Amino acid sequence: MRFSDIKENENLVKALVGMVDSGRIPHAILFHENDGGGGVPLALAFLQYLYCKNRADGDSCGECPECNKIRKLIHPDVRFIFPVAGKDLASKYVEEWRELVTRDPWFRESDLDAALGIEGKQGIISVAESRGIIDSLLLSAVQGGWRSVLIYLPEKMNQQAANALLKILEEPSESTIFLLITHSPESVMKTIYSRCLLVRVIPLSEEEELRVHPEKSPDYEAFCDIFHDLVVAIEERNLSALIEIGETMAALPSREKQKNFCRFAGEALRRIFLLQQGLGDLARIPEEEKLFYSESAAKLPKKFPRVAISHFDRAAKLVSANVNQKILFSDLTNRLFII
Ligand SMILES: [Zn+2]
Repeated sequence: MRFSDIKENENLVKALVGMVDSGRIPHAILFHENDGGGGVPLALAFLQYLYCKNRADGDSCGECPECNKIRKLIHPDVRFIFPVAGKDLASKYVEEWRELVTRDPWFRESDLDAALGIEGKQGIISVAESRGIIDSLLLSAVQGGWRSVLIYLPEKMNQQAANALLKILEEPSESTIFLLITHSPESVMKTIYSRCLLVRVIPLSEEEELRVHPEKSPDYEAFCDIFHDLVVAIEERNLSALIEIGETMAALPSREKQKNFCRFAGEALRRIFLLQQGLGDLARIPEEEKLFYSESAAKLPKKFPRVAISHFDRAAKLVSANVNQKILFSDLTNRLFII
């Protein structure tokens, strides 16, 4: 995850970059997110920036071995703690955690419960978990740099667990950082809370929600249908079908929905672009859509997604600027046809 993958919370991103650039890195940062609201992506982008060997322009490079290890959640000096059921430890579920977080960093608490198979059970962070963190921090960093612990939902720690963890937070060792992501800062043990730098993650706007979770939009099915038809018409060089699709886009019931469709199409084209570049693991494609996307990536010309994204971006801006929709969308389909 790079900061550039996060489109909102600009000020917070600047502050996080500033901490690393200035070398004034707090020992513990508590990210207050709304459920699924972007605390985890920000914490991961921060870690990637902290560990990256080729930082530039306020972002990680995304390509060095450190970036790759953070992206795949396999860095040996980064530990993940999250609530699990009963006496289990989070380490037992590390594969499930990786699968969920790499597929959908904007996941919700209920998505995690489902991924771990603990729906309806009380997830907790136990004292054994805190002790495990302490033990692991007694060892030096495997790669000689920072040691990090990301704790998802510290409010699920019981008193004992919080007390055990407090010992390290009170006397933090050099080059150790805790990143905590909470949905309810008032439920985090006061002793922990008071030792963290609290940052508020601004909830996702409707537009950003559509970008990160298009499948949760009520228009998802309709948007998928239009986009699928569009791709087929392009592949078959079928201009009359394309003109009809332009009319369908113009007939979407509000300017807001037209704009959302343009954003949706832009995101779908970005996925096709990533697949064509051999970077499918970054594309976060839902399972049931994988076949469609891989076929589209194989059939569409290499330059199509990049150029088409710019046309959809332009259309999204013009929709807001109140231009005639019919003209706008027929112009858009013409532009797509000649790519
Ligand atoms: Zn890097």
